[in-house]
Amino acid sequence: MNKYLRDLVKLSKFDSSISMFEPKIENEKAKLSTFVEIAESFKTQINETYAQIDDVKSKRTKNNIHLAELKTKLEDISKKNNEISNEKELKALQLEEEIAKEQISFANEEIIRLDKITVAKEEALKELQVKLTEEEESIKEIQVAVDNAIEDINKERNVVSQSRGELLEKFDNKILTFYQKIRRWAKDSAVVPVIDQACYGCYMKINDKTYAEVIKSDEIINCPHCGRILYKEETEEA
Ligand SMILES: [Zn+2]
Repeated sequence: MNKYLRDLVKLSKFDSSISMFEPKIENEKAKLSTFVEIAESFKTQINETYAQIDDVKSKRTKNNIHLAELKTKLEDISKKNNEISNEKELKALQLEEEIAKEQISFANEEIIRLDKITVAKEEALKELQVKLTEEEESIKEIQVAVDNAIEDINKERNVVSQSRGELLEKFDNKILTFYQKIRRWAKDSAVVPVIDQACYGCYMKINDKTYAEVIKSDEIINCPHCGRILYKEETEEA
């Protein structure tokens, strides 16, 4: 194979594998992010539940204040009972007493209802906290695995980058520029193998004459359809 072509194939393979490292890292991070998202949603639910409990408790306090007021009112009514002078006053006072007693029973019922809500909410809160702890444990474990995987990927990337750097030190400048121009649009498929007499960039069949030139590998041959650089896999030659 032509030396320049061989260098191009190597460079293209290095560039393709370098492009693959970032998605691999992103993939590792994504494993973690689903767990982090779930943990975040538990935290939000916990905060909401705390706020709801606070709200119920403040309603309960208001009911207690109201109860105390109503009890004072009942005491006042019973004092007034001794000062009544006619039937009309008596009826008015009885009505007032009835209303106050009704309000007391409402307030008591409301307190029972609010307490039940508080118990249920506190139970839900405990469950959420258990779930959050479990999720955070999983995150710790996954974090270690992900960190290790990313470290391995970075090591591999450094090796490839170093080999690429070494290759570029003795690379022909014109060939490099030529390659970079194709790479601008073809990305990682600037240099592609010919398989079954087809370009593996655009998948079009190439004619016999071009195919013969590709097999010979004496020169750098571009795909007549798309312009990518073509080569014949060394293994297939043998
Ligand atoms: Zn092509």
